[in-house]
Amino acid sequence: MRLGSAAGVTDTGRRRLRNEDAFICEPPLFAVADGMGGARAGEIAAGLAAAALEEAGAETRGAEGITALLVEANRRIWERSVQDPATAGMGTTVTAALLDAATGTVGVAHVGDSRAYRLRGGALEQLTTDHSLVAELVESGVLSPEEAERHPQRSAITRALGTEATVDVDAFTVDAELGDVFLICSDGLSNMVSDDEIAAVVSEARGSLADAGEALVSAANAHGGEDNITVVLFEIVAGDPEAPPPSVPAPATATADGVGDGPGETQSAEPLASGGPLRRHGAGAGGRLPAILLIVAVLVLGILVLYWGVSR
Ligand code: CA
Repeated sequence: MRLGSAAGVTDTGRRRLRNEDAFICEPPLFAVADGMGGARAGEIAAGLAAAALEEAGAETRGAEGITALLVEANRRIWERSVQDPATAGMGTTVTAALLDAATGTVGVAHVGDSRAYRLRGGALEQLTTDHSLVAELVESGVLSPEEAERHPQRSAITRALGTEATVDVDAFTVDAELGDVFLICSDGLSNMVSDDEIAAVVSEARGSLADAGEALVSAANAHGGEDNITVVLFEIVAGDPEAPPPSVPAPATATADGVGDGPGETQSAEPLASGGPLRRHGAGAGGRLPAILLIVAVLVLGILVLYWGVSR
């Protein structure tokens, strides 16, 4: 088995003015961060977390490896908030997954209420437990899961990255099987779209994870789009796990901070495993056509000048 395609999409939603979510989709590492804080502090916190994860080296392995990245991200966000009063109190969720195709495992580390799911055989399994007030109330039997879904405080988180000098990261490893789709999302998706609908939407758009991501964002917006919506997906396919890692097209890096500037803005990145064509948003083969035409024109002009010179 090896990594198949992967895609990341983020959208401001229909109610918020800014997008304070960020994501990274840099095989074999995938993550979603959902920032919080006044002014632009939420964007800064999520962006710092994504940047810290982007620096992950090829030697990063397993849940412990990602945990170390999250601890480093926490340190950077905390230090920034101490130095810059405008960002005091900022923080972010982070849920990150690292595929190890050689061992057929996915390491997951998370803080906050961004979720990781695994879709296997049409059934969606939530892998992470939200660090949220309502999740704790469900755990202690005070609320039913159905009550939690409608609870007005359902976005209140009990743990965040960057709000304190140290952080408690939950980390674990799960197995990956052929055909699995892993999904990481911010609460702008999971609060708006039920697990059953997420499973149905991804199963239906199974041929293209980019399409599945866009369809999930559309579903969240159709249900109100009350928050920023971010989803990252990757799939496990048949193949040689030792094959070189899939190359990542430039847009994946360019949109890595996932920060949008206005309502309705959607950004996506779709790194594809080797073997498939690279599809990029905003830059297709058409961009190369004018250059080819220019070269042909120069060649034709050169031949004409030569011909004119010889014939005189
Ligand atoms: Ca959110």
